[in-house]
Amino acid sequence: METTLVILKPSAVQRALAGKVLSRFELKGLRIAGIKMMQLDEKILREHYAHLVDRPFFPSLLRSMMATPVIVIALSGLDAVKVVRSMTGATNSREAAPGTIRGDFGMSGQENIVHASDTPENAAVEVARFFRPEEIFDYSPLVMPAVYASDEINR
Ligand code: UDP
Ligand code: MG
Repeated sequence: METTLVILKPSAVQRALAGKVLSRFELKGLRIAGIKMMQLDEKILREHYAHLVDRPFFPSLLRSMMATPVIVIALSGLDAVKVVRSMTGATNSREAAPGTIRGDFGMSGQENIVHASDTPENAAVEVARFFRPEEIFDYSPLVMPAVYASDEINR
């Protein structure tokens, strides 16, 4: 199973969408492996958004991501990275498909409710960036045999 990183951004916290968004992931069958609130700072955001530091909108993105504390969540499941990305939708919320989190809850390119890791390699780096090892929990919910077929459970 994979573990992926989700951040409920200040746009989610400000608009009191944390419960609704987390509930979608739980109802899908993803397992919460770690969860906490934290205030991001420029140092961690320059690492996390290293691919964007030279873009003109980066100062605005920095301010946006530091506007309130965020909720960081590690979600585990089979193909969790791909599943969570598809549930998240396109970066620009106005273009994100209805049924996705950004498509249903957002109107903005920047204030787009959630971050989700884009590849398994980045997911591993991002989970380690935001969580200490002892903050990630390995347990098997009793519903697992109803969520997965027997040949999927140990993949
Ligand atoms: N972003 C923005 N303007 C852009 C592109 C990105 O404000 O033109 C912000 C937006 O909040 C996005 C984040 O920067 O979620 C990270 O961008 P990325 O391209 O990694 O998109 P994501 O992986 O979040 O869909
Ligand atoms: Mg990205």
